[in-house]
Amino acid sequence: MIETGFIGLGIMGSRMAANLIDAGHKLTVYNRSPEPARALEKAGAKRAGTPAEAARGRQVVVTVLSDPAAVRALALGPDGLLEGMDEGALWVDCSTVDPACSMELAALATAHGVRFIDAPVAGSKIPAEKGQLLFLVGGETDDLLEAAPLFEVMGKATVHAGPVGAGSALKLCNNLLLGAAMLGFAEALAAGDAFGLDPEVVLDALSGSPAAAPVLALKTGKIRNGDWSPEFPLKHMHKDLHLLMETAYEAGLPLPLAAALKERFGDARAAGFGNEDFCAVMKVARPGPSHRNIC
Ligand code: NAP
Repeated sequence: MIETGFIGLGIMGSRMAANLIDAGHKLTVYNRSPEPARALEKAGAKRAGTPAEAARGRQVVVTVLSDPAAVRALALGPDGLLEGMDEGALWVDCSTVDPACSMELAALATAHGVRFIDAPVAGSKIPAEKGQLLFLVGGETDDLLEAAPLFEVMGKATVHAGPVGAGSALKLCNNLLLGAAMLGFAEALAAGDAFGLDPEVVLDALSGSPAAAPVLALKTGKIRNGDWSPEFPLKHMHKDLHLLMETAYEAGLPLPLAAALKERFGDARAAGFGNEDFCAVMKVARPGPSHRNIC
């Protein structure tokens, strides 16, 4: 069993950490707002007062934080996790960040005598709860193998994408597909509305169509019921598309579809839907059946 520091107990981290505790790993947890850590304390974790305290004396430290700024905020500085980590320990960052950020964090880790892998996940709230995530890992093989017992509890598969940064790069590619699938679905439903089709028929037919991404079938119930409660918060999809565009810019690659997606998710965020599920992009992309019916 691995002595693990676990930092970041949001939608994903709280569920991933709970699975590790259930599997018998010894967890010391930290979260910026105290409530989620108190809940896990009741489940058997130790609660730390700072990231450094969560990291000190642990073989592995896992972070699952919103974005690059959040990871830097908890990693650096006097009470940061790098100050606490023992020399030779392993930092596994499961946050979705850009590859340049992962490489920067790895360099900072090395300067502290700490090893680093990026290990963002594919799969949302329910797969996190069921231990069915897909880990996309960048880093040394030996480091991945050391974290593998944790990945096996939290996930169903692990892909070794390449060196540090490759996991983050692959994750951004994955979320381009995800964003395109959801916005494409929203516009297809909007077209159905405008063409005078029965929205129920359209929703059922399209979500089961061979042209639909499998993830859409998982969201049909939420869309039908107008249940926008967050599984994957829309603000994180907007962030991921932004990080993808920045990374593509650095690579000299134009991504016109991703640029359009980013702005549409940005519209939804600006309209106040950032903390709702990313399927709430429907609310801006599918204005409702107020068009001239053509059927
Ligand atoms: P979340 O529910 O929004 O949780 C974010 C976590 O980051 C919380 O622990 C939050 O602390 C912490 N945090 C944010 N800003 C901070 C700051 N400035 N300083 C310290 N802590 C900060 O997000 P999530 O859905 O769990 O996602 C976590 C990561 O996984 C993100 O990078 C996301 O893109 C990625 N991801 C999410 C999903 C999904 O379906 N949800 C799927 C795959 C990947 P507080 O509790 O104090 O706010």
